[in-house]
Order: sequence, then structure tokens, then C-alpha cells
Amino acid sequence: MKIANLIAAGLIALGAMGSQAFAQDKGTVGIAMPTKASARWIADGDNMVKALQERGYGTDLQYAEDDIPNQLAQVENMVTKGVKALVIASIDGTTLSNVLQQAHDAGIKIIAYDRLIRDSPNVDYYTTFDNFQVGVLQANSLVKALGLPEAAGPFNIELFGGSPDDNNAFFFYDGAMSVLQPLIDSGKLVVQSGQTGMDKVGTLRWDGAVAQARMDNLLSAYYTDKKVHAVLSPYDGLSIGILSSLRGVGYGTADQPFPFVSGQDAEIPSVKSIEAGEQYSTIYKDTRELAKVTADMIDKVLKGEEPQINDTKTYNNGVKVVPSYLLKPVEVDKSNWKEILIGSGYYTEDQLK
Ligand code: BGC
Repeated sequence: MKIANLIAAGLIALGAMGSQAFAQDKGTVGIAMPTKASARWIADGDNMVKALQERGYGTDLQYAEDDIPNQLAQVENMVTKGVKALVIASIDGTTLSNVLQQAHDAGIKIIAYDRLIRDSPNVDYYTTFDNFQVGVLQANSLVKALGLPEAAGPFNIELFGGSPDDNNAFFFYDGAMSVLQPLIDSGKLVVQSGQTGMDKVGTLRWDGAVAQARMDNLLSAYYTDKKVHAVLSPYDGLSIGILSSLRGVGYGTADQPFPFVSGQDAEIPSVKSIEAGEQYSTIYKDTRELAKVTADMIDKVLKGEEPQINDTKTYNNGVKVVPSYLLKPVEVDKSNWKEILIGSGYYTEDQLK
């Protein structure tokens, strides 16, 4: 065979390996991501692969399309293949206990990535953003937009929470309510539906269509003769659904502007919506940094060294407090998105046209 053919055959074989890239001498790390439905997790997966490969590891990256048994099977498979470490952004943070026990028994190091894995003693570390602060920033952006606390109000606000099987959703909600509850108590903010608390405002699987349907119901039940002035939304995918529902009943015009709607992840459709004056704000979380911190952590742990952590109090997973590294989230709105998102190189100007 000619050399060119040999190279071509090699490339085809590499292509056939798909998202699996083995054979680096430091061993393989399994990366289990929840879904490709949201751009942030695609970026997380790509960034993790890159960061680990730069440090000499092979990677096995899998997405589970928000299907819990699928993610479980993917992690089981990684354990069977003998990965050295697992990086898991779980769908339901309580469903992985058995496989994590097997992984731990096999000496595999386990890192909960962005979302805490609950009810298992076998989570070695957790890397994430300051999730309570995410909620504080979301609520502060709405409060500032309404001119509170100075403005007299009262303003109508509706509340949306994230998926109740994601530990983060409670941190986002609690952070936001630490800002909003005093204003609700003083009467400056009014939740016309009376729906508060994660049991009433949670959105299973962070599904934008579910949020849109709930917003439709809220608008037709409580807002036929009133306006809604602000909506707490914990994630851009929900914000887009909520805005479409509002558009459907006539918001988004000069006479009836959209309420202020928050978000999270600085996803491209939402950044465009912010620029267009629709969504009010989002929270930028630099997933490149999260991948870097996680890859450094894995490298240290696998060398038998102590990784860097900066929180040993906050994240009790029901069995133990998981040592964590928390990154800082940043609020983004029309006034600063260019500087923050393009200035940091997170997006190019072209991506946001
Ligand atoms: C993440 C958020 C994301 C949400 C929905 C959460 O666990 O921390 O960044 O918006 O999941 O994917």
C-alpha cells in the first residue's frame, strides 16, 4: 500500500471512532453530558475534550439526550472500558449511585461537572459556578430594570424555576428569592398567580416548551386585564419560550413592551434577543474556564496530588459535603454583552450577526 493510502486508511479508522479518542498514554477520561439540545453543553463537551487532550488524556464523550437510562448506560459502559476518571453533568443527580459505587471500587475518580450528583458518597469533587450567585444576579438584573427598590411599584412578576431533578435549580431559585422575597413581602412586587416555590414553578428537564405552555396559562388566567412587568427565568431556553408566549398575546410592541425577562448561559439566540431589546438579561458562565479547572483537577487527582478547591461548605449532596471549585458567573445585558462576550473571545462578532 502506498503511504498516501495508508494515511487515508488511518484517517478513515480514526473517523470511525466517532467521539471516542483513546490511546493517549495517560489513559482515557469518560465525559457524560446531558443533552445536545442546549448549545452550552455542546461547548462544555468540546472544551472538556480539548482541555483533557492538551493534558495528555484520551476522551470518551457521550451525550444522553436528557434520557436518564441512556446516561446510566453510557456511564456503565465507560466504567466497563476502564476509564481513569469520570466527568459527569448528570440529568437527574440522584440516579447514578450504583454505577458510581462500581466506579469507585474500580479506583475511578469521579467529578460532578456543573451539576451536583446527589445521594452518593462516591463523588470525589465538584466543579461548577457559584449557583446561588447566578440566581442573585438574575433577580438583581430584574430589580434594577424595574427601578427598584426606589420605584413605588407595585410591579407584577412571575417566577420560573429549573428542573427539580437538577440540584442547581434550587440554588438558582433560592439565590433569586433572596433578592425578590423582601420586595414581595413589602408589596413592591406582586406574583399575581400566587405561584411561588420550586414545587409550583419548576420546569421539568429545563424544557422551553413546558415553560411556554405554563406562561400561556398564567397569561390567560391572571393577566387578561393586567400587565406582567417582569419574569424570572433561570435559563435562556426557557426565556425564549416565555417570550414567544408573551408575543402571542401582544407583548413586544411600542404600546405593550415585553416585560423584563432574565436568563442564563448567554446562548446565541438569547444574546440576539437581548440585542433586539426582547430578552432583558442573561448570565454568562465561561465554560472554557470550567473545562480548564476540571481538566487540571483530574490531572492532579490522577497524579495523586491535591487539586485546587475553593469551597468546602456549600455542596452537601445528602451524604457528604463535596469539595468544590466554584467559578464566578457574570450578568450580561444590552449595555455590556459586546464587551463581555466578544471581548473575552467567547463568541466572534460574526456568530452574533
Ligand atoms: C446549568 C445551567 C443550565 C441548565 C439547563 C444547569 O444545571 O447550570 O447553566 O442553564 O442546567 O441546561
